[in-house]
Amino acid sequence: MKSFNFLVFTVYVFILFVQPENVFGLPNFWANVNTAKPNIISRNGWQARPANGHELLKVTPTPYVVVHHGGSQQYCYNRNTCSQIVRSYQNYHMSNNGWADIGYNFIIGEDGNVYEGRGWKYVGTHTPGYNANSIGICIIGDFTNRLPNEAALKALNALIGYGVSKGSINHSYHVVAHRQVTSTACPGTKLYEYVKKLPRWTNNPKKSNV
Ligand SMILES: [Zn+2]
Repeated sequence: MKSFNFLVFTVYVFILFVQPENVFGLPNFWANVNTAKPNIISRNGWQARPANGHELLKVTPTPYVVVHHGGSQQYCYNRNTCSQIVRSYQNYHMSNNGWADIGYNFIIGEDGNVYEGRGWKYVGTHTPGYNANSIGICIIGDFTNRLPNEAALKALNALIGYGVSKGSINHSYHVVAHRQVTSTACPGTKLYEYVKKLPRWTNNPKKSNV
């Protein structure tokens, strides 16, 4: 009987600590570990144009993540449409702006997929003063009046968590919104409000001097 009570007690304690929040209302030690893995569509997967050259990130792992939106009211909920929009961003950045490639390191659709732009290794063209020391992530759409859906926000958090776990983003990184460091409406008021609530958001980012 004693050993039965002990078993019940052990199971009870185990259950308490397996929940995301334990009995004291505190997060369990693994609750901050982002275990969701992002689904990353490679450049081939969205039929990217080849880049006109690459430059390696100067500060790695990067101390910053910069959040952007696409800025046009084009939204997508499946891989085909999202790939098409990502290609249109790349065409615009290369043909109109004369950049070497799509400006962002990664692009996220409301289909929940992450589309590889310049990726983890190469400098983007998205935020003057922060290109060399950040991963620039753009969510497809205009988020002035609404938030990206849950799938896109989950993908954003999973991508950042994955970047930290693989050593591409510094574990003590900070998140900023594009409009904090450049005169722009990007990433839209609603998405900016969300970014400000992220645990690693900073109001005091420091430009890269390299
Ligand atoms: Zn932006």
